[in-house]
Amino acid sequence: SRHELVKLKRQSAVTRDAVSIGLHANIELPEDAPAAKEVAVDGVGLYRTEFLFMNRPDVPDEEEHLASYLHVINTLGERPITIRTADLGADKQVDGGRRGPVATNPALGLRGIRLCLKDQDLFRPQLRAILRASHFGQVRMMIPMLSTTHEVAQVLRLVDETKRELRARGQAFDEHLPVGGMIEVPAAAVCAGQFARQLDFFSIGTNDLIQYSLAIDRIDDEVNYLYDPLHPAVLQLISMVIRAGRKAGIPVTLCGEMAGDPRYTRLLLGLGLAHFSMHPNSVLEVKRMVLDADAARLAEQVDRILRTAQPERQAQLLADLTGT
Ligand code: PEP
Ligand code: MG
Repeated sequence: SRHELVKLKRQSAVTRDAVSIGLHANIELPEDAPAAKEVAVDGVGLYRTEFLFMNRPDVPDEEEHLASYLHVINTLGERPITIRTADLGADKQVDGGRRGPVATNPALGLRGIRLCLKDQDLFRPQLRAILRASHFGQVRMMIPMLSTTHEVAQVLRLVDETKRELRARGQAFDEHLPVGGMIEVPAAAVCAGQFARQLDFFSIGTNDLIQYSLAIDRIDDEVNYLYDPLHPAVLQLISMVIRAGRKAGIPVTLCGEMAGDPRYTRLLLGLGLAHFSMHPNSVLEVKRMVLDADAARLAEQVDRILRTAQPERQAQLLADLTGT
């Protein structure tokens, strides 16, 4: 009923055994911010900024980036906003005359942070805008497609350089702007402990983590039947990242499609996940699952499942847990 829905919106996401769970929204354009505000009290966990670059002949400048971030900040007020730097390339091509030779394997090519570090005319205006936006709201910056810790070091150096530029210009920013990374390349998941030393938070991108760990093109219908969030290798990788984050004392979010699928909520809670970021339309359904869950019991159950050696038995237990 309507009354029930209003009540659910106001309720905070806490499990039966009193574990607080952050429910955050994924957005792609400033226009999505009101829908995020409506349901996600914990703010925006993934702002996919690359959409500002698409379907246009030129590249957005600093002021245009800033204007779109301020729009989101003004809508969400005090709530945190995680701005992901442009994840262009592969399925999200940039126009602006920058289209290089067509890569044979674009998903394995110059995309995300690789493209930004190579084409810094594209990256630096965005860095300046994110830093400037951080003066007006609770902004976090997030780097996509990391595969080496060297990339993190390069980004952090650019952030420091950008801060110096802004100081010289007399422009305000949050000196402690948190910088986090997407863990979506299996190599980064395996080495999550090392990445945690340099980053303020993790966000697990299961859409890509599944694609890369199972070698299944996420947009190729021919192999779609093999795209499996419940593959034990995927679950082990997710578990490794969550444990590495906990050990390092940094928050871990999961912002792939898995986070918004209520069938997987219990499984992810059992893996120890405390922050979910998803399409605004899924937040209330996932919240219902959280309110109904017992995190400690799920942790034991999921631990047992992960340790099950017999594959059919494991698949059956996973199917039972997820109702799939
Ligand atoms: C992901 O890979 O899971 C993710 C959230 O990023 P995107 O879908 O934009 O690649
Ligand atoms: Mg991704």
